[in-house]
Amino acid sequence: MAPLPQIDLRSDTVTTPDDDMKKAMFDAPLGDDVLDHDPTMAKLEETVADVLGFEAALWVPSGSMGNVIALMLHLRRGDQFLAPDFAHVLGSELGTAAWLALGMPRALPHDGGPGRPSVDTVRREGAAGGPYFALRTTLLCLENTHNFAGGAVTGPADWANLVAAAKENELLVHLDGARLWNAAVALEVPPSELTRGADTVTVCMSKGLGAPVGSVLASDATRIEEARRIRKMLGGGVRQGGMLAAAGLVALQSMDRLADDHANARVLADGLRERGWTVTDPDTNIVLADSPDPSATVTELAAKGIGAVSVAGKVRFVTHRDVGRADVETVLHQLA
Ligand SMILES: *Cc1c(COP(=O)(O)O)cnc(C)c1O
Repeated sequence: MAPLPQIDLRSDTVTTPDDDMKKAMFDAPLGDDVLDHDPTMAKLEETVADVLGFEAALWVPSGSMGNVIALMLHLRRGDQFLAPDFAHVLGSELGTAAWLALGMPRALPHDGGPGRPSVDTVRREGAAGGPYFALRTTLLCLENTHNFAGGAVTGPADWANLVAAAKENELLVHLDGARLWNAAVALEVPPSELTRGADTVTVCMSKGLGAPVGSVLASDATRIEEARRIRKMLGGGVRQGGMLAAAGLVALQSMDRLADDHANARVLADGLRERGWTVTDPDTNIVLADSPDPSATVTELAAKGIGAVSVAGKVRFVTHRDVGRADVETVLHQLA
């Protein structure tokens, strides 16, 4: 295995539990979730449902499983779903949206702003009708923040307009909110303002906040009951999962700290720009840099002890809890 980068900006998923989190995991009340519903998982599910403004929620081992369960709830054979280009459900989940959830994907341009389609595009692409052999477009899948658009935030007004356009066409709406917490912190609004009107929402507990495992799918009680069955079908029913859910509860309490990551991302972006790089203006904790050969740039960075990845034809840097301001300064110094 290659040595780990000294300063790891590959992803905010590299954060590990601190002592407080480990203690909470160690002390969590536990039960067999498949048989009885583990009390700590139940507590996390209720808490997240509440924070997101939904009736119910379900702990899932990963964001990908949360997304595919949502899509399995919503889609049938012959259906098409819409998602912004470079969405995680399109390119980063091995096509499960198609072969497991049975939806034909349609990628939409980011013509409404970074990471999102315009209202007109949703109206046009979501329009019903056509001959019997046409696909039925039944679902709009949005992503906030949009990862491969550079952690781009969709604010409450744009979100409301997109949901309204979807509903005009009787489309269901799924929100991949893997980094919804970042969006809420960046906008200084409660997360529930960014989920209004969605039929299902997935959030991750394991990004930037130290939880080792876990995402949550939120919806109405009926859908969550069905989602529990689908999770079991996929092999995602766990037993004493409260040990993991406890980490999610601690993560929720430390949400405000994401603002530090956002500030560090801005320092990194400004510094890179001063050094001649072309970079995105980060809304949150992700900086995308242009490169004629992103993989080669990632290799060069790795040789300097800096971890980055190549996504969507760019070099991606992600700030997180385990990278402080001093580390960002070190990175910039290395690149001077
Ligand atoms: C990380 C991420 C997910 C979920 O990833 P898992 O590794 O399956 O937990 C989903 N959507 C987006 C946009 C993500 O960045």
